[in-house]
Parts: sequence; C-alpha cells; structure tokens
Amino acid sequence: MDVITLGETMVLFTPKSSGLMRYAGDFSTKVAGAESNVAIGLARLGHQAGWISRLGKDEFGEKIQSFIRGEGVDVSQVTFDDSASTGLYFKEKLTANELRLKYYRSDSAASRMSDDDLDETYISNARFLHVTGITPALSEHCFETVLKAMEYARRNGVTVVFDPNLRRKLWTDSYARQVLRKLSGMADIVLPGIDEAEFIFGQSDHESLAQAFYDNGAKTVIMKLGKKGAYVHSDRSTGFVGGFPVEQVVDPVGAGDGFAAGCLSGIIDGLELKEAVRRGNAVGAMVTMVDGDVEGLPGKARLTDFINKTHRDDV
Ligand code: ATP
Repeated sequence: MDVITLGETMVLFTPKSSGLMRYAGDFSTKVAGAESNVAIGLARLGHQAGWISRLGKDEFGEKIQSFIRGEGVDVSQVTFDDSASTGLYFKEKLTANELRLKYYRSDSAASRMSDDDLDETYISNARFLHVTGITPALSEHCFETVLKAMEYARRNGVTVVFDPNLRRKLWTDSYARQVLRKLSGMADIVLPGIDEAEFIFGQSDHESLAQAFYDNGAKTVIMKLGKKGAYVHSDRSTGFVGGFPVEQVVDPVGAGDGFAAGCLSGIIDGLELKEAVRRGNAVGAMVTMVDGDVEGLPGKARLTDFINKTHRDDV
C-alpha cells in the first residue's frame, strides 16, 4: 500500500425537500468520512490506498464497505461489529441558507475500534499512515487505537501524516487542544487549516503558527489557507503555494481531504514538496466545484488538464 488510513465513515441522509425534517419523505444517501475520502482521492489518482475501520453488521455497513471497495480502496482490514450500529447523520436544510446537522454516531461500531483492529504487518508494509483528529474524539478506545497505529508506523519507518480535522461538537475545547497538539507533535507531516492552527496554538500569523507546529515536533507543516492555497514549512522549503482560481464554489466540504490526497499523491510520485502541495491545491479546488465530498475528486488525466489549463490561462 502507498497510504493506509483509519477512521469512521457514516451514511449521510439529506432530505430532498427543505424545512423541518419531520415532514421529509424522500432522502438521498451518501457515504461520508474524512479518512475514506482521502483514500478514495488517492485511489482515483492511481495509488494503492487502504482504509481501516469498524462498521455495524447492518445494511448501512454493507453499503459503506461496497462503496469504498468499489472506488478501488483496500477494505481487507474493515471488520463488522454485530453488537453496534453504523454511524448515521442527517443534513436538514431548514431554509435556503440554514443547515442543521444531526448525528447518530455515539457508541457506533467505529467508536468501538481498539488495538485489535490493527495489524502491525499491514501498517508496516505501507509508505504512509494517515490519521485525523476526528478518530481520537470518538472515544478513549479510538484515541488509543490512533496512538497504537502511530506507534506501529514509527517503529516500522512508515511516515505518519496527521490532519487535525477539528470537530468541536465531539469533545471539549481544552481536551481537543491537548490531544491535537500531542498528535501533531508525533506526526512527520501535519496538515492543519489556519483556523485549526489558531485553535491549537493561539491567534497568530501563518508563519509563526507553522513554526509552532515545527517546534512541537512535526518535520513538515503544510497549512491550508482556503482559496489562497497553502503555506509550507520544512527543513527543505518554506513559503506560499498559491491556490487555483475557482469560478463558483458549489460545495466546499471535502476540499481539505482532496488537498491531503493531492499532496500525498505528489509526494508518492517524487515531486518536490511545493510541487506536491500545488497538486494538493488543484485537487482541493476541483472538489469545491462539485456537490459532495468525493464526487469532484479527479483522476490523473483530469487533474493534469486542470493544472495545465490554469497554467495556460495564467500566462
Ligand atoms: P474542509 O472543508 O474539507 O474541512 P479545510 O478547512 O480542511 O476543508 P480548506 O483550506 O478549506 O481546508 O481547503 C483545502 C484546500 O482546498 C485549500 O488549501 C485550497 O488548496 C483548496 N481550496 C479550498 N477552497 C478553495 C477555493 N474557494 N478556491 C480554490 N481552492 C480552494
């Protein structure tokens, strides 16, 4: 495997009509999870990606597994728990510009993940382990599982990539800050958004925040700056990598996951760090142009076209 990731994926229900959900009769369903989005993004770009998780032994678990498998991601490490359910959530569109999210994920199958879900040999055969700050927020067991996965990676020379992916609803601010700081310091590559960086280290400019992650232990800091692109800080290179222009943002959710997939894809292909981040910016931008978290993730040919076209338009 090029990249292995670990985390919870849920089924997202969206009522087809707006207004209070009690009146909704028709729903669309989608598969949603930050870590599986990254794995799908990598698979679409031609890399080998694996996703570790636990699903409920129910129809939603089957749906998630077959969707992710269908995208070409290795799901051999996914297990089914017959005493817990797959996590679900609902996106209620109260009015044209007011959304309300409702999660049914507490004590979900994924929140019961433990060290037993990890196979050291599977992790040791990968080049990168990708983990996020969502998983440790699910339960103490999940936090320990992330620590164990990182330990297996580190002792086998696998590069650890950490995306803080702050979810304030899942835990208290002070505990989240403590855990995210700790895990950021244990990673080789850290991918914070500027807001997450400020949450963890306090309000400051991007350069000082990147330096704070570096001083905390991460060797490479790639900070996401929304449409402006990203800021890189490592021993080898430091500086901005400009974003790609997007005419109309249709759905910004999932841009960060696409960005992670693009950066990792570039690093796997041996690109210089800033070029890899440029690929991340391109994938992130492409994701925002399409509704859904994974629908806009490009294959290599579309990605190359997008990068070349933008470059031509710049000249
Ligand atoms: P998410 O909503 O998925 O959690 P995030 O907050 O982690 O996203 P963002 O900074 O919003 O991350 O987006 C990640 C990357 O996607 C950016 O660094 C940039 O490269 C690209 N991107 C996001 N929004 C835009 C935009 N409006 N125009 C162009 N590129 C964008």
